[in-house]
Formats: sequence, C-alpha cells, structure tokens
Amino acid sequence: MTEPIKEPKVEDIKTAAEEKACPVQKALYFVTEFLAGPMCGRCFPCAMGSYEARIRLQNLVDGKGVEADLLALKRIATDMIEASFCKKGKDTGKFILDWMATDVYQEHAEGRCPDMQCASLIEYRILPEKCTICGDCKDVCKNLAIFGEKKKPYKSGYFPFEIRQKRCTRCGECIKVCPVEAIVLVAANAKEPVGV
Ligand code: SF4
Ligand code: SF4
Ligand code: SF4
Repeated sequence: MTEPIKEPKVEDIKTAAEEKACPVQKALYFVTEFLAGPMCGRCFPCAMGSYEARIRLQNLVDGKGVEADLLALKRIATDMIEASFCKKGKDTGKFILDWMATDVYQEHAEGRCPDMQCASLIEYRILPEKCTICGDCKDVCKNLAIFGEKKKPYKSGYFPFEIRQKRCTRCGECIKVCPVEAIVLVAANAKEPVGV
C-alpha cells in the first residue's frame, strides 16, 4: 500500500521561507506554500487574505508593486491575526507583518530590491573598462543575450561585450564565469553600475 502524502507543516514552510534572502520573497514563498497545503479554506479572513496577499506580494516581486499593495498587505495580515479561526491563519498574518517590519517592502514599491534577489528589479551589466573581450560569458549564455565578438590576437578594433537586457533572464551564469569580475549586478535602470 502506498504511503499517504504528508501535508507540509506551517513551521517547515516558515523554515524554508527564511532561507530566502529577500523578505518579500520569504513572504511570497510562505503564502504560496500555505495556500497549496495547510490552508483549509474554512474561514474567510485566512482563505481570501492568503489569496490576496499572494497577488500583492507577487506584484512587489515583479516590480509592479505600489503603495496600495503595502497598505493592503498590512490590512490583510491584521485581519488574519484578529479573525482567523485557527493558529495557522493567525501565524500567517503575524509572519507577513514580521517580514514587513523593515524598509525593504517600501523599497520594492519604489522599484528596488536591496538584496538584489528579485529578477524584475535587477540587471546584469558588463563594465567596459574591465572586460577583456574573452567571450566566456557569451559562451555560457543560453539566451543569446550577450553581444560581442571574441578578440583575436592578430586583429584590433574590438568593443567590450554587452548584455541585451530584453533577452536576459537574470540566470546569473555569466557572472560565474567572467575571469576578471567585469560583470556586475545593479538595480534595474540604474544610471551607473554599483560596486565599481
Ligand atoms: S485560519 Fe485555519 S481554519 Fe481558517 S482557513 Fe486558515 S487554516 Fe483553515
Ligand atoms: S544573466 Fe543569464 S541570461 Fe542574462 S546575460 Fe547572463 S547568462 Fe545570459
Ligand atoms: S567573460 Fe568577462 S571579460 Fe570575458 S567577455 Fe564576458 S564580461 Fe568580458
């Protein structure tokens, strides 16, 4: 006889969520897993609250978040704490409020992920002054997002490689192979690279 599939516990989902570096992603992960598992749907504040919280958190992670999302999340979490039928819903509201107790949520609503984790809010860029035109980054990019021609010893007139942001999926493979640390992570739409 096959073993019944065990439903994940709220504490285990919380532990896995805490491993994420960005507090908005922690909350999004937790709420998504809570909805898929322990959330039973018996009471409105928890069922609808979790559902709406996931939408609001996704907006923030996707770079579409606004002030109204922050206000809605605080309202939802407070309602869950006060009116959920059981501890699972109350704890979920508390976790959301705890993760919101920093400026990080406000920063997401303004288009920045301070931990550089949310793909929609970051960009990979090549520092032209550091690029040695070796082409290693282009070789690993599966999305053909890197533009440039490898330097040949007998020719001159090469330009540093560039990343086409529209094609880049922020997978991070190029940054791992660059031998001279010429690829950096910056806030999306930043005028100048950071960390230079
Ligand atoms: S608070 Fe408890 S009873 Fe209400 S929907 Fe959530 S898990 Fe179910
Ligand atoms: S982050 Fe990934 S998709 Fe973007 S340029 Fe680098 S390797 Fe290509
Ligand atoms: S791997 Fe680094 S040095 Fe080589 S082409 Fe890419 S950015 Fe330039």
